[in-house]
Amino acid sequence: MASITLNKNHFFNNLDIIAKLTKTKDKIALVLKDNAYGHGLLEIAALAKEYGITKAVVRTNAEAKKIEPFFAYILVLADIAQESSEKIRYTINELPAIEKFAKNTKVELKVDTGMCRNGIRMDELKEAFALCAKQGLTLEAIFTHHSSADEENGYFDLQKRNFQKVKEEGKRLAKEYGIAPLRFHSCNSAALFRTDNFKEDMARVGIAAYGCLALPASISSLHGKHLRPVLSLYADRLSLRRVQKGERVGYGGAFEALFTCDVANYDFGYGDGFLRSCSHNYVTPEGIKIVGRISMDNASFLTNKEHLLIFNDAREAAKYAGTISYEILTALKPYLKRVVV
Ligand SMILES: *Cc1c(COP(=O)(O)O)cnc(C)c1O
Repeated sequence: MASITLNKNHFFNNLDIIAKLTKTKDKIALVLKDNAYGHGLLEIAALAKEYGITKAVVRTNAEAKKIEPFFAYILVLADIAQESSEKIRYTINELPAIEKFAKNTKVELKVDTGMCRNGIRMDELKEAFALCAKQGLTLEAIFTHHSSADEENGYFDLQKRNFQKVKEEGKRLAKEYGIAPLRFHSCNSAALFRTDNFKEDMARVGIAAYGCLALPASISSLHGKHLRPVLSLYADRLSLRRVQKGERVGYGGAFEALFTCDVANYDFGYGDGFLRSCSHNYVTPEGIKIVGRISMDNASFLTNKEHLLIFNDAREAAKYAGTISYEILTALKPYLKRVVV
């Protein structure tokens, strides 16, 4: 089986850096969706509480319920309230969703400033306030999400300008409806790290806290360079064999030994979250090469090691799979053992 270690020092180091940018720990809303980016929902919630984080963001109501004891504020991005809760806030992702929430539910209005995915349109703001009032919802915040905060293409600035307009109209409407104080937030990790003098009410930070923020050199900030990956993945050897020259390893015999070599097989494969697209070319941080195809529950490496480090920086693993660290991390199944070190 494979197992995961979570480096507490690295996690706290990352939170220190993020808190410098937000200026206070209280403005960090730690994003814990998808099993805390594969790190383990309860493991990360407990560490975050120990550090002094009070806010969290999740996808579902079920996730919110699990972490309720750890935080004072939880924002659910994509679910409907089951029962009212002091701590949990729900996202309005489109106008028709407003009537799905019960009276007095705390909600936050997501506004589409250019990503064209979720959120009401900018010209629907007035109607949204009216509908929330009619439904008796407690509107606490307006937020948006950036499509291109990690890219240098001008789109980030366009959305920033759009959100500025939303803020101005939102403040006017809040006065009209006697809502005070309305809160505003727009930054994910990349947006926070490219913002000087952060002034919003909170930042929704995921990947930077896990130490895998990847920004192009042109927009990378000094702070980003000091983030450290939290998660390392190890696998235990299931069997070891000496493969003779000319023998073939794994499905399709995709690897042919050109010389006699030791091949260790680990009971860890794409079924556990080791992307099959890492087959053939993957090299571990210690320089150990994968051989052949990754199977559902197995992967073989050119080594005899009993305990093998698979990766300690998801960004590096992502390069082999032609993907991003987010996919490498969230692919890791919840049943893998996670140990804080
Ligand atoms: C996932 C998510 C985030 C966190 O993004 P990172 O790039 O991991 O910091 C923030 N806001 C919303 C709405 C999200 O869905």
